[in-house]
Amino acid sequence: MDSVTDIGAQTGLLGVIGHPISHSLSPRLHNAAFRSQGLNLVYLAFDVLPKSLSAAIEGLRALRIQGANVTVPHKEAIVSLLDRLDPLAQRIGAVNTIVCEDGWLVGHNTDVEGFRAALHSVLPSGARGRRCLLAGAGGAARAVAAALVEEGAAAVWVYNRTRSRAEALCADAMSWGARTCEPLGAELLAEYGCSADIVINATSIGIDPDIEEMPFSVDILSSHQVVFDLVYGVVPTLLLREAAAKGAATIDGLEMLLMQAASSYRLWTGLNAPLAVMRHASGR
Ligand code: NDP
Repeated sequence: MDSVTDIGAQTGLLGVIGHPISHSLSPRLHNAAFRSQGLNLVYLAFDVLPKSLSAAIEGLRALRIQGANVTVPHKEAIVSLLDRLDPLAQRIGAVNTIVCEDGWLVGHNTDVEGFRAALHSVLPSGARGRRCLLAGAGGAARAVAAALVEEGAAAVWVYNRTRSRAEALCADAMSWGARTCEPLGAELLAEYGCSADIVINATSIGIDPDIEEMPFSVDILSSHQVVFDLVYGVVPTLLLREAAAKGAATIDGLEMLLMQAASSYRLWTGLNAPLAVMRHASGR
């Protein structure tokens, strides 16, 4: 399909559901990819409030859309609303991709692969044997923790505003085979944070309205670290600017967004995603 005038009765619908959603780059990435591969598909963004999530899922099912992405804050809440989960999404308890199979909505998680691929683009040896500080315990943090466990991280320390969610994530990560996974209180953050090799922000801090905030004090950052912020935007987040100023290697969320998008695209279309087209559409 070359333009909106080509949308017709045969056009398949995909989209992303989240709140807020106006900042999402996913429609640009996927529509550019569909056009470049001549697919009769269109991808939209849907602003869905938590109280409307169940109705939105019923809508997707009734309309038999081909697939969807799921983003903040719905990745965990959506799990119980789907018909089936693939084993990885089931284990993590978070879904970022839905595939509609013969009217059944099947949940997958491509954030795990997206995070791993983005990390390896800067740190080829990955997280194996590294000590990792992870801020956040929501849907994205669960995918990051799963990737760190699979990679063989020496330790994962989880710091989250709501401590009980960090405790729950750590208990799950231990059941997935983590060597060490512990929730951190604010009192231990400085001590553990300074010794972390990889520092990751998987909270919503850094997106509107918390644009000029960071999840940790700048004091824990140092030049030996890799600092990965899942948040992406037109300018680097405050966390990444401070990390770069300390001489740390930095990774922003765009590379992960591209990699998870490519995996979702493969699930929906059966085709390898045109990564160069997606990257160009992202503005990089
Ligand atoms: P969730 O809503 O599931 O989780 C949000 C997390 O952020 C929770 O840990 C929450 O803590 C924390 N948080 C939110 N607001 C604040 C605040 N003001 N102060 C401290 N902590 C806060 O969202 P997701 O896990 O799905 O997404 C988290 C982030 O990761 C988002 O910014 C999202 O855009 C980004 N992301 C990026 C991806 C990429 O490809 N680059 C992929 C997936 C996510 P609490 O438990 O206390 O509420």
